Amino acid sequence: MDTNTDTARQAEAAAWRERDLAVVWHPCTQMKEHPGTLPLVPIRRGRGAWLEGVDGVRYLDAVSSWWTNLFGHAEPRIAEAIAAQARELEHVIYAGFSHAPGLALAEALLAQAPPGLSRVFYGDNGSAAVEIALKMSFHSHANRGEPGRTRFIALGNGYHGETIGALSMGDIPLYRRVYAPLLLEPLFAPSPDAYEAEPGESAEACALRRADELAAIFEAHPGQVSALILEPLVQCAGGMRMHHPAYLRRAREICDAHGAHLIADEIAVGFGRTGTLFACEQAGVSPDFLCLSKGLTGGFLPMSAVLTTAAVYEAFLDDSRERAFLHSHSYTGNPLGCAAALASLAIFDSDDVLARNRGTAARMAALAAPLAAHPNVADVRQTGMILAIELAADGRGKTPFPAADRRGLRAYRHAIERGVVLRPLGDILYWMPPYCVGEEELMHLAAVTTSAIEEATRA
Ligand SMILES: *Cc1c(COP(=O)(O)O)cnc(C)c1O
Repeated sequence: MDTNTDTARQAEAAAWRERDLAVVWHPCTQMKEHPGTLPLVPIRRGRGAWLEGVDGVRYLDAVSSWWTNLFGHAEPRIAEAIAAQARELEHVIYAGFSHAPGLALAEALLAQAPPGLSRVFYGDNGSAAVEIALKMSFHSHANRGEPGRTRFIALGNGYHGETIGALSMGDIPLYRRVYAPLLLEPLFAPSPDAYEAEPGESAEACALRRADELAAIFEAHPGQVSALILEPLVQCAGGMRMHHPAYLRRAREICDAHGAHLIADEIAVGFGRTGTLFACEQAGVSPDFLCLSKGLTGGFLPMSAVLTTAAVYEAFLDDSRERAFLHSHSYTGNPLGCAAALASLAIFDSDDVLARNRGTAARMAALAAPLAAHPNVADVRQTGMILAIELAADGRGKTPFPAADRRGLRAYRHAIERGVVLRPLGDILYWMPPYCVGEEELMHLAAVTTSAIEEATRA
């Protein structure tokens, strides 16, 4: 691009930034850090794994735009499905009415979900899906004559969203602490996180030890627990911490033994992220509630779905309205979201996405392997299309850097200046790219990550 357009575009981006920061309040952001500490990046368009800035700079979206995107930005088949649906029916009240994409999506999701799930309830974002599962679980027990099941068990280091109920189930102090006086109080069971295993303990042994501790919590609260909620295989917001599937198998048995539900929050890990379509498959476990969002629409539209069992559904069937699940969101079952989700599921078939991802995940592993030798790298871990690199002051002893150092922020700034969106969680860098990411893009990502680690770990 010639220098004139270059300057013109940079001026446009600067003007945009100024207008934006005058009126918009961005999510999960200390706005005081804009524009000083953090640059605000105006984006004009997206194509494949890339975002294009208003200033003409291209950025590799290594975090799939907050874990929503599956097949790349502006994927034409999904864009076309939404456009076609918008010309037919953009939305209709979903109480008392039905439409083709809502029906087809429910059938398609149930056909691929773990066995035993036979009903779909739609919501409009991930936090709403969690709220729905919590309310349905409690209400179904109450309808069956057990109104005393008022407690939930959640895992240490878990994350389930930002609304009051969903935030209550989370254990990340940065998000939870300030609102604690307002929140429900679940019983927290220790995370089965393999990073926290005892020296010499295998991931599986750690998971089983943690499952015994989970069982003890259930035993101390007989008849009180409505459900256990967890993120299967990877606690994403908690720093991409990973656990052995043996935990999920034991958790399923423990819930069954205590008459409690298992809520699998696959909002981040669903739709192929962990290698299988749903993470629960790797443990051979069927939850009572499967919460889906983020990748559900391929990353195009806000939408969620809660899948549940016939047993839960039947507990609500009665002549009384109060026994019904009266929960609703205005945009429940939005046809545009359903059309996007159907187009996204079709791509899994037509492009044999899970098979391709196995190759991509192997390349990610190979490219990240050399980083493990860095003295400030405490761990390189991977589950399918999620790869995390944990930095520490002493990599071997896993002694963290002081939080005030903000090493992750240094890595972020270094990478964004080199055209890569890495958005570390604290000092944990991770790759969670769109599935269309190619060899050259991965090599670029690995090179920039390597230099970002150098930059972030310098004294
Ligand atoms: C993102 C996320 C949520 C919340 O979804 P939103 O659409 O952001 O409300 C819930 N659970 C998990 C595991 C998530 O990663």
